[in-house]
Amino acid sequence: MKTDNGYGSFDHQLNECTPKPGVGSGCYDHQRMKSVFDPDYQNQSIDARIVVAMERLSEAFRTRLWDENKKHNLSPLQIQIIIFLLYHPEQGAGVKQLAGEFNVAKPTASDAVKTLIRKGYLTEEPVATDGRRKMLKLTPKGEKTAHQVSFFANRIQDEISPLESGQKKILLESLLGIIYNLQQSGIISTDRMCYRCRFFGRSDDPDKPHYCHLLETPLAVADLRIDCPEFEPVP
Ligand code: SF4
Repeated sequence: MKTDNGYGSFDHQLNECTPKPGVGSGCYDHQRMKSVFDPDYQNQSIDARIVVAMERLSEAFRTRLWDENKKHNLSPLQIQIIIFLLYHPEQGAGVKQLAGEFNVAKPTASDAVKTLIRKGYLTEEPVATDGRRKMLKLTPKGEKTAHQVSFFANRIQDEISPLESGQKKILLESLLGIIYNLQQSGIISTDRMCYRCRFFGRSDDPDKPHYCHLLETPLAVADLRIDCPEFEPVP
């Protein structure tokens, strides 16, 4: 049996892929059988090189977070939690939400929160409207430290700033598209961007092809949000 995805065909009996000349690096089944970390495969596949480039970028974030870890003796997850609480105080986050936010198991988030409470960075307070629920709040010490560590990724922004605005728009749109697909397939759970918002629509303005029905304004690609405080999920 042969399957064809437009980029090439795969013969399941012979276990052989025939790329379509001038179109692609091979059929989907063939691509799935190769590791993106295999340099020979990378040389044939731009898709694989993009994935590996993204993995290198994630290394930059890890390195920057570990630098902060050395300064403040807080784990990368603890640093991410206090930064999140600093900039999203209105969300009244608890352990469950933090676990979803950072794609970790609830016990892992719970351990990180307990340590932060013990070290005096966080307190847990009952929600005014629901006494059974508790929300996490930064202490003054937590706020000060969160503000200091929240600059850990600005060094990475320094490398993006010199790009031309056209390149930035393509980059932003491509990244949002990839994140959207990863959210749709359940790999990423964080969800506060335009593409998945119930207020998101299209406009007739070719320069601003998107529309926010809450703000009642057309949006250019450069306006698309990834962490919008007004976001509401599609029901
Ligand atoms: S409310 Fe925010 S996330 Fe939703 S469409 Fe408008 S700008 Fe985008």
